[in-house]
Parts: sequence; C-alpha cells; structure tokens
Amino acid sequence: MSTTEPDNVALNGPVVGRYRVIPLIEKGATAGMRPAVASKDVQEALALPGTLVADWQDKAIKRLGQLVKQRRGLRVFLDNCTKCGACTDKCHYFLGTRDPKNMPVARQDLIRSVYRRYFTLAGRLFPWLVGARTLNKALLQDWYTYFHQCSQCRRCTVFCPKGIDTSEVTMAGREILASIGLGQQYSQEIITKVKSIGNNLGMKPRALADVLENLEEDILDDTGVPVRLPLDDSRADVLLVTPSADFFAEPHVDGLIGYAKVLHQAGVRWTFSSQASEAANFALFTGQHDHMRDIALRIRNAAVDLAVSRIVIGECGHAWRVAYSYLDALVGPLDFLDPAHSRVEHICEVTHQLLTQGRITLDPQRNAGKVITYHDSCNVARGASMGQRAGGQFRIPRELLAASVPRVVEMSADTTKQKTFCCGGGGGLLTDDMMAVRIKGALPRAQALQSVVDSDEVTHLVAICAICKTQLSSVLPHYGLQHVQVTSLHHLVGDALVL
Ligand code: SF4
Ligand code: SF4
Repeated sequence: MSTTEPDNVALNGPVVGRYRVIPLIEKGATAGMRPAVASKDVQEALALPGTLVADWQDKAIKRLGQLVKQRRGLRVFLDNCTKCGACTDKCHYFLGTRDPKNMPVARQDLIRSVYRRYFTLAGRLFPWLVGARTLNKALLQDWYTYFHQCSQCRRCTVFCPKGIDTSEVTMAGREILASIGLGQQYSQEIITKVKSIGNNLGMKPRALADVLENLEEDILDDTGVPVRLPLDDSRADVLLVTPSADFFAEPHVDGLIGYAKVLHQAGVRWTFSSQASEAANFALFTGQHDHMRDIALRIRNAAVDLAVSRIVIGECGHAWRVAYSYLDALVGPLDFLDPAHSRVEHICEVTHQLLTQGRITLDPQRNAGKVITYHDSCNVARGASMGQRAGGQFRIPRELLAASVPRVVEMSADTTKQKTFCCGGGGGLLTDDMMAVRIKGALPRAQALQSVVDSDEVTHLVAICAICKTQLSSVLPHYGLQHVQVTSLHHLVGDALVL
C-alpha cells in the first residue's frame, strides 16, 4: 500500500482509483454527519427516555460503569490499548472520510478517556497525564457522531495485536446514548416494528402471504415448475428465516426464489413463519441485549409452534452472526431440534450439503457470460463461521459459486475473507441521512472491485448479506461501477439449478 497521496483520489469526491492509500488526515471532515435522533414515540415504545434527560452526564457515567462491570470484554478493551497504531489505517470510514476520529483507536478513545476520568485512580488524580476527559456536551456530540460512523465490522480487530474489538466499544457507546434519550431513529424504529409486527418493514401476515403467492406465480411462469413458498406450514421440517428485503426488493428477491427452488428440488419440507418473518436483529447494532433477546425469541417461539426440527437462516450477515454466535446464549438451549441439526444452519450450508449429497444438480453454463467476484460480508467473515470445519464461511459460498458460474475472480487478498472491507452501510447505517458517509465508507471495496473489473471484466458482485446488497447497489454508481450487477448468491444458484 502506498503511503503517499495518488493523483487518482480526489480530496473530497468519491473517485474510485484502483489502489488503496493511507490518506492525509482532514480534521472534522465528517463532524457534521450524523443520523437522526430517535423520536420521543420510538424511544418510549422501547421503554427509553423520549428526549435527552436533564441529568444526562450522571446517567451516562453511571451506565458506563454498569456496562464495564457487566461486559468484562469491554473493560479489557478499554484498559489494554498500547496506542501502537496498527489499527489506524484499517477502517474503511477513515480511509474514505480522512477524519482522524474515524481511526479505530480514536473512536475507542471517545469512551476510554471518560472511563479513565471516572473509573481509574490515575484518571481521577492526573487526568492530563493519562488522556482522561470530562464528559461534556461537545464530547457527547462526538459520541453520537462517531459511534454512528462505525459499522461494527471488526476489521480493525483483525490487525490489533491486543485483539481489541472496536465494535463492542461502539455498541456500548450507542447503548449509553439510547439510555439517556439519544437513540438512533433508523435502528430504534426498526426494532419497534420487529417487536410489534414481526419484521423490519412492518409487513403484516396477510400482506406477506400475498407477496409469497405472487412469487409462486412468477416462478411457475418462468420455469413451468410449481415451486411453493409456504407460510406457517405445520407439516414442515425446516423453518427458514430470512431478511424481509428478500420478500420484495431487488436484488434480494431473486435470492429468495433461489432458496425456494433448491429446497423444492431436494424435496425438503420447509416453511416461512409469519411470527418470525425477519432474520435481522438490529439490537445487535444498538447494543441493547434485552431487545436482542426479545427479537431472537420470536425465532425460537416460531420454531416451537411449528414443531420444526431445523432452523435455517437466509442471506443476512448480521442475522447469521446473531444466530451462529449468540442464539444459544440468548434463547437456548435449542434442544427441540433434530440432534443431527442441533444448531441453526445457514442456507448456504444447506444448499452445499444438498449439492454434495447429489440431491441437487447445478449447471454453471446456465450462467454463461457472467464473471463473478465475491464480497465477504463482515458479520459472516469475522462474526461467525459456517459448516463443520473452520473457515467454512469462506469456503462454502465460494464452492457454491464455483459450481454455479463458469468464472469466479477473487478481489485482492487484503480485501477478502477475514480482511474483507465493510460495504460501508453495516451496523445500522443503511439510512438516507447517512448516505454521504456510506458512499465514502465504500471506497476501499469499490477500489478492489474496480481492479478486477479492469483486469478480468467482472460483471457481477455477489454477497450473502441484505445490507451489503442494498448498500452496494446504491453506492457503486457513485464510483462509476453501475454496470456491475450486485447479486444474491442464491440467485445464481437458482439460475444454475437443473429443475
Ligand atoms: S469496527 Fe469497522 S467500522 Fe468500526 S472502527 Fe473498526 S474497522 Fe472501523
Ligand atoms: S491496534 Fe489495538 S492496541 Fe494498537 S492502537 Fe489500535 S486498538 Fe490500540
């Protein structure tokens, strides 16, 4: 990586260029970019203060003290930074915005400095010596701004010799902010919808049934095969829980059609649930563990009510992280599942098993002319695994792609697998009021993509995360990459499937 400023990266514009650089810093570059604060109604619906409380400083410090006690990892992360600097150029938001407060260590210091001031002896006695700061209005504003310019992607953690997880610090920051009346409108509103109606979109069961019926007709028209999209089918063995974007939005819906074709072809008895018609769990982003549990509980309850023996999660990055890494702790044990499938499975894992067992056949020539590259989604790559062997989250999607398309090209190795770059819209930032930051944050991914477009004429970028798909479809045109089609992995699998 070059350390000088190249000609092909403009100071403020989203000019893609092919190479990543460590940018010159620009203090306060994104200080004014922050998402809308949650309305009184939304906050109160989640039993949180509707507006900033009068004694916000005392409450915020008290909550920080509680979190540091409850979450031992957080305390370790706040205590252990050596300021080595290894993380500073690893964040896509720093690379894209140049704002030094988007360096992971600087983001952590927004809370670390307050922790030192109020919870360490040195910070109480000699605050100027240890970088301890009083929590004041200006710092509170920085908390709101820069904890909403972190997608909790954990790329910086991969490079930190101490393993400090900035996403945990960001979650704690957002949790404290919400507890004093400064929740984020987008994420909090989604959480209220999931809790009251069952999905992010607020789509009621009748509307969902209509959508599924229409999709069944579309598949029949296209293929001549009566592929079902069952809802609340009590005879099913498998409950499929997928992000609600899959039900109607492009490019997601073609992935959903792909799941249905695969399960139909393999003769799997499966169903969606109107009770758990959403895989996403935005409480992961807001750091509110009680809401995270409530949202996860819908999936467990739906599985029990439908008496299924397997739970499968669709193409959603953070939903898979919650399912794989936390579901047992949140709502386990899931001892009612078939012992052979005793943990929640990913749809890629299921399709891969069916392929290896010879229960489905894929013909890559059905995707002739497509040149594919694969974007590893952060929450799958760094927050979970897949299958029985380590590294399955990297191997399984790639093997499915290799079986489904004639040509797959890898982007640069320092932008894939564990070192993948966030799409720029994760962690609850996929909202219009964050578009400027989202575009800037997508810079490293766009650069890596531009490189394989130039070298190999890549036509499609594949992802297995609803947020990545929406974000990349929206921002790639800003980098002149509108001709690259963002696609669901199961869209390509579905098209390659011999029905
Ligand atoms: S977790 Fe991701 S977005 Fe947050 S500071 Fe680290 S690299 Fe940046
Ligand atoms: S890499 Fe880790 S220890 Fe080094 S400055 Fe960053 S957070 Fe601190």
